Amino acid sequence: MELMHLIGLTQTELTELVGSFGEPAYRARQIFSGMQARRLMSFAEMTDLPKELRGKLSDETVIPTLTLESRYVSTDGTRRYLFKTRDKYPVETVFIPEEHRDTICFSSQSGCPLQCTFCLTAQLGLLRNLTPGEIVEQIIFALNDAYGVGVATPRGTNLVAMGAGEPFLNFENLMKAIRIMNDPAGLHIVPNRITVSTAGIVPRIRELATIPNRPHLAVSLAAPTDELRDELMPINKKWPIDELMSACREFEKSLKPNDRFTFEYVMLRGVNDSDEQARQLANVINRYRLRAKVNLIPHNPAEPLPYEPSSMTRVETFKRILESKGVHAFIRRPRGRDILAACGQLAARSTAGEVPASIPTSQRRIA
Ligand code: SAH
Repeated sequence: MELMHLIGLTQTELTELVGSFGEPAYRARQIFSGMQARRLMSFAEMTDLPKELRGKLSDETVIPTLTLESRYVSTDGTRRYLFKTRDKYPVETVFIPEEHRDTICFSSQSGCPLQCTFCLTAQLGLLRNLTPGEIVEQIIFALNDAYGVGVATPRGTNLVAMGAGEPFLNFENLMKAIRIMNDPAGLHIVPNRITVSTAGIVPRIRELATIPNRPHLAVSLAAPTDELRDELMPINKKWPIDELMSACREFEKSLKPNDRFTFEYVMLRGVNDSDEQARQLANVINRYRLRAKVNLIPHNPAEPLPYEPSSMTRVETFKRILESKGVHAFIRRPRGRDILAACGQLAARSTAGEVPASIPTSQRRIA
């Protein structure tokens, strides 16, 4: 029998489960805060629970299910974790230390069904959707590894659903994970600290627009015309640029006055980075009267992807053209390229920079 996976339960669900063991509701609150606030990954550490209950929980349930296979540390401090699910599928998570607030980039699927030609994850194909628990676990592991078990995050944490997978093709599980993480008795990471990136699953963009307490949205564009986007991101054949932009317009109408969403634009040398393409991109955004900002991401190369990154001067010129047409643009500095942890590089590969964990992740305390 598959053991019940506790990290993927809301407090309400946990209360029901614990009730079925004949235990009062306050036990569920203790267990929930043990896992989600103190970030304890074993019942043995929850010494506020009676021993007998701990034994029963260990027999019938499990807290984490991911096991850490490898941990890689980049020269720039970025960390990549490669986990395996209980059924042996790879899951990757990236911790990105930053000056003001650290970011955790998590995966929503093992592999990815989309076939973007510039992304290494595409080469895995879809292995399977991750469960809500498998999503929440990634964040707990990364926090414990970066700061110590249960140690408060110094300046809060930003989360981005920009790891492997298409989050909007695993919408229910993603939204449940976000609800669990939002609980003030647990991780208390509010949706306002979370950004979900999509390759353009139009019905879900429209649906997100109707949800009040929701994460931020990023949309991966990669090309200003259908002709090129069909080639780079085949999902465009299903939802072409006009449909995507109309949904973005709808989404923007639901934003608060000073809020913006983001377009991501990977910069591929000689493919989508010309002056003309910058003008086309600005024109598309302006045609739909979008205030969105554009994040320019220099391509992160990896064998056997057939592209090279645009030069920095090209990226800067591209940015200037967008700005001259009133479109706000930013350049995203690549992080963790040397350990294949940067955007589009997650493919469960091993690299240099491995810093093995000597004790099981669930008990590991980093000095
Ligand atoms: N499937 C979702 C979530 C992944 S986010 C999406 O496509 O939005 C990963 C981001 O990295 C996307 O914006 C994607 O366009 C970008 N990306 C993919 N491969 C890349 C690469 N090799 N170099 C730079 N960015 C890449």
